[in-house]
Amino acid sequence: MSNQIYIRPQEYMPSNATFDLNALVRDNVRRMKPYSSARDEFSGEAEVFLDANENPYPSPFNRYPDPLQSEVKRLLSPLKGVTPEQTFLGNGSDEAIDLLIRAFCEPNRDSIIITEPTYGMYSVCANVNAVRTISLTLDQNFDLDLSLFPALNDPSLKLIFLCSPNNPSANLLNRERIIQLLEQFQGLVVVDEAYIDFTTAPSFTTELSKYPNLVILQTFSKAWGLAGLRLGMCFASKEIIAVLNKIKYPYNVNIKTQELAVEALSNKDQKDRWVKEILQERTRLIEALQGLTITQKVYPSDANFVLVKVTDAPGIYKRLMNIGIIVRDRSNVRLCDNCLRITVGTQRENDKLIDALKQIVS
Ligand SMILES: *Cc1c(COP(=O)(O)O)cnc(C)c1O
Repeated sequence: MSNQIYIRPQEYMPSNATFDLNALVRDNVRRMKPYSSARDEFSGEAEVFLDANENPYPSPFNRYPDPLQSEVKRLLSPLKGVTPEQTFLGNGSDEAIDLLIRAFCEPNRDSIIITEPTYGMYSVCANVNAVRTISLTLDQNFDLDLSLFPALNDPSLKLIFLCSPNNPSANLLNRERIIQLLEQFQGLVVVDEAYIDFTTAPSFTTELSKYPNLVILQTFSKAWGLAGLRLGMCFASKEIIAVLNKIKYPYNVNIKTQELAVEALSNKDQKDRWVKEILQERTRLIEALQGLTITQKVYPSDANFVLVKVTDAPGIYKRLMNIGIIVRDRSNVRLCDNCLRITVGTQRENDKLIDALKQIVS
């Protein structure tokens, strides 16, 4: 050992010095004893397993899955620059969203902030749990307007959900403004990065050691091509992750999902090739859309979809639907008057869409 003085992460004094996770967790969650499964009590190698009342006869699924998905997390660690202890895996990001609300928000008392237009699950999960949603509106560029935020020291305000790149507007939120919220808010700032693979901007995982109140959501549903598996990632301090693990279903991610995720992570090149093609197609789609007379505005995209303002979104949506092309009509969503949200497809699919849109004009 040299005489060099190491500053351990715990000793680093973040600007958010008064952050107190224990005070933030609901009383019942802090006090409860978690369910302890057979696989929690013994998880090593053995010859004979008679501890979980499983069927002993061979079938691919006669055994319960690893409750903490250690193999998946081991492969994720170097890719994401986080430790397995800073990683929660769930049945889609949706499970993490639900657990965050259930762990930190007292029903009929606490509230969350969302910035609309945004992903619908934050307020749905809040509603299910009788948690109030304070809905702010993004500015005309779909970016954060910090002047709209209420007093951040309100003790009943527990979570701020930010989506960056945002769904349905496809843009990144301003990084400095997110940092400002992280520094000023004593609750958790959740940054949903479902579309992070489609932007060159760095993930907020790079900020985890600085901000004890930062939570990041990512997913296998978009770039990884595994929406049908249902596997979501949540990255945060090991203390926050421990809270989520305490209240999750013991075996929340099944064996097949864990195996297929390991396979996907071992073949990361496939994901990278898909992303590269999607980005090329995104550029081509945006250019084609810009050339149409029905197009009023194509919003910039850091995601695998494009938001486009057209002359008559419901009408164009119906005409596309009638010929078997389904896009998302977002015209009833705040700030999205006459907007369609179009996922970037394969080259052939995008060609079909573009051809169809040209026909609609003529
Ligand atoms: C698609 C999407 C997700 C993914 O949710 P899963 O439950 O992981 O499939 C999460 N957040 C946003 C904003 C999304 O658009």
